[in-house]
Amino acid sequence: MIVAIDGPAGSGKSTVAKLAAERLGFAYLDTGAMYRAVAWRALELGIALDDEPALTAIATNEPISFGYLKGEPLPSEVYINDIDVTREIRTPATDLAVSPVSAVLGVREALVAQQQRIGMLQDTVMEGRDIGTAVFPGAELKVFLTARPEVRAERRLCQNAERFGKEASSMDREAILADIIRRDTYDSSREHSPLVAADDALVLDTSDMSISEVVDWIVNHAAA
Ligand code: C5P
Repeated sequence: MIVAIDGPAGSGKSTVAKLAAERLGFAYLDTGAMYRAVAWRALELGIALDDEPALTAIATNEPISFGYLKGEPLPSEVYINDIDVTREIRTPATDLAVSPVSAVLGVREALVAQQQRIGMLQDTVMEGRDIGTAVFPGAELKVFLTARPEVRAERRLCQNAERFGKEASSMDREAILADIIRRDTYDSSREHSPLVAADDALVLDTSDMSISEVVDWIVNHAAA
């Protein structure tokens, strides 16, 4: 079974998708991390963000893999070409680069093929922007999470502080809100697989819901 969880930046997808996967005993795939890894690699190699053949070559030829932190049931480490980029893919520089990189058709085709192969192996909760529309249009459960932009910025701020520590989280609330709005606009208006709810997705506004309420809601629908 595939549980597809799509939605804009900061809608709480990662947090609830991981918890739902744990509760259901499913595998978990963060497809955004794959686009981020390609974007990071492009920056690292000094490749222009409009160089479609070079970006496509990275996505096609450089293997992306996930690792487990000791004792954790779900993967949280991200590697591209065996380089650990777990932290680097969450920096403001990668935030800026990832939308143009993920708009490239060749990049999407390469990563979608990998995501389909991974999802075919076992029951999986897969999160991203196009899981219900392009990666697994036949997914048994499709959830599209939304939340008000201010709520999403607040959540991202907390997540960054958790990941990098209060000092290291260099972006303030306004900058994060601006980044979220910029990425949503870019992701929603791109030509290939734009961010949009599938016709048969269940749309859930999580602005005023707790994490456990959202997870319960997903698990109940998956079990129904
Ligand atoms: O989920 P996350 O915010 O980490 O995703 C980073 C970026 O990757 C998104 O802003 C979007 O441009 C791209 N993405 C995508 N399709 C997916 C997942 C992420 O285009 N399935």
